[in-house]
Amino acid sequence: MSLKSVNDILGVLKQQAKWQEHPFERLLQLWPDIVGTVAATHTRPLSIQRDVLRVATSSAAWAQNMTFGRTALLLKLNQKLSEPLVDIRFSTKDWQPRPDYLQEKTVIPQEHPSYLGNVNISRTQVTPTQKSANTAFESWAKTMQARSHGLPLCPQCQSPTPPGELQRWQVCCVCAAKQF
Ligand SMILES: [Zn+2]
Repeated sequence: MSLKSVNDILGVLKQQAKWQEHPFERLLQLWPDIVGTVAATHTRPLSIQRDVLRVATSSAAWAQNMTFGRTALLLKLNQKLSEPLVDIRFSTKDWQPRPDYLQEKTVIPQEHPSYLGNVNISRTQVTPTQKSANTAFESWAKTMQARSHGLPLCPQCQSPTPPGELQRWQVCCVCAAKQF
């Protein structure tokens, strides 16, 4: 066998290897055109094994739909592929809508393993404080109300003033202190 013919054989083998490498890549490119853009978003070709194409689907309904239409799909695909497929299997099993690192972001805090229940803690801490603050304000307001209703006003600053102070200084003790 001459060196030239060896090279020819190697060339043929390389060519064959290329053809065997590419059917799946070619199929990925063809897929949206063959199934349509809507179906393409709900299906993802996974691999070709022994001339059987495995496709992941977003739901069982899509798997069922696509399985019903697979004969037509096979005809369309085989017109464009160098190696004809014998069948297509649709399954939801390997469907992953997004990579894991993206799904991580959508985990709500309560479901996260390191979640400490901050919302509940702050609730139990804040409520009594607010309650006592409100109670303090209410009792202060009541006292002020009772005072202003029951007490005469200082003629100088208009503050409710104990009658004793008015009798003594004619003004409240604060105004009296200012005068001294
Ligand atoms: Zn006064």
